[in-house]
Amino acid sequence: MLTLFSNAKINLYLEIIGSRPDGFHELVMVMQSVALADRITLRPIKAPNISIECDHPLVPTDSTNLAYKAVSLLQKRFPNRTNQRGGVEIKIEKKIPVGAGLAGGSSNAAAALFGLDVLWDLGLTRVELQELGAELGSDVPFCLVGGCAIATGRGEAIDSIPNPPKLHTVLAKYTSLSVSTPWAYKTYRQQFDHTYKPLNELASLEERRSRLHSGPMVKAIGSHDTVAIGTHLSNDLEKVVLPAHPKVMQLKEVVQTIAAQHNGIGTMMSGSGPTVFALIETAEQAQAISNAVRQTIDDPDLQIYTAEFTSRGISHH
Ligand code: ATP
Repeated sequence: MLTLFSNAKINLYLEIIGSRPDGFHELVMVMQSVALADRITLRPIKAPNISIECDHPLVPTDSTNLAYKAVSLLQKRFPNRTNQRGGVEIKIEKKIPVGAGLAGGSSNAAAALFGLDVLWDLGLTRVELQELGAELGSDVPFCLVGGCAIATGRGEAIDSIPNPPKLHTVLAKYTSLSVSTPWAYKTYRQQFDHTYKPLNELASLEERRSRLHSGPMVKAIGSHDTVAIGTHLSNDLEKVVLPAHPKVMQLKEVVQTIAAQHNGIGTMMSGSGPTVFALIETAEQAQAISNAVRQTIDDPDLQIYTAEFTSRGISHH
């Protein structure tokens, strides 16, 4: 049996560059793992079944669960190595809000890949695990690596940014509000495809990089310049998600105002939302912001978490 913790991520930067021949968007993101984690327990069993148990009512426990898909992909891809192994029971204890833009499902899939590689002694390399992860979802390769990274392509090509500052976050989300990631990208395409840059499949990596605007954020992280990190926080998907969800727009304004009163570094929506996060230097300041937001918005539907940056996607402890 193996118990793992799969960390959530936030997007410090998310830019939509254009359309790809495969129908996905070409993206550049700066992702950061935060210490808000689901607990995943993997128990190998003799029978060749995959079973999922989860304490969150919105998470499917059938073959559409991303952790289930991860196991089935391993079985399909490595029949010789997995045939003798039987099946697995997976228990997911959810802490990461669902449909939140925090890659909860993707992180569970990453934990299942990572854990079964160990339990079934598959001997997969890091690159092999990342390639399998990319087949399950664009955020899975990042979740396997974690820490701070630039993600390009459709989000699956990961370059780690070494030694990022250890900041703290306040994360706020209305429990009853979820945003579907496909909806957010589809709506963005409908409204903004005239801004897309033409992408030549054969363009060199260097040419493609020259179209990106993430440089100042990466530089700010590298030099631990928190003021510049705050200035360069950016997320193209805010342009479609905030107008469609005025409550999230208001939440962002409240969090931003309160964070500014506590020397906050910046406030932004993560991924396709609707989670809004504020960055701050210390755990005490994060708690103070959390308390003040809670006092200002007296709504039991509002979930608020504090979590620090972490250097891992999957951890044991
Ligand atoms: P991302 O930031 O990667 O777009 P998200 O945080 O917006 O992801 P998730 O919490 O991963 O969204 O869930 C999106 C949907 O995926 C859920 O509504 C749920 O139906 C489905 N799902 C499948 N497997 C899982 C899982 N293990 N955990 C959570 N959701 C899952």
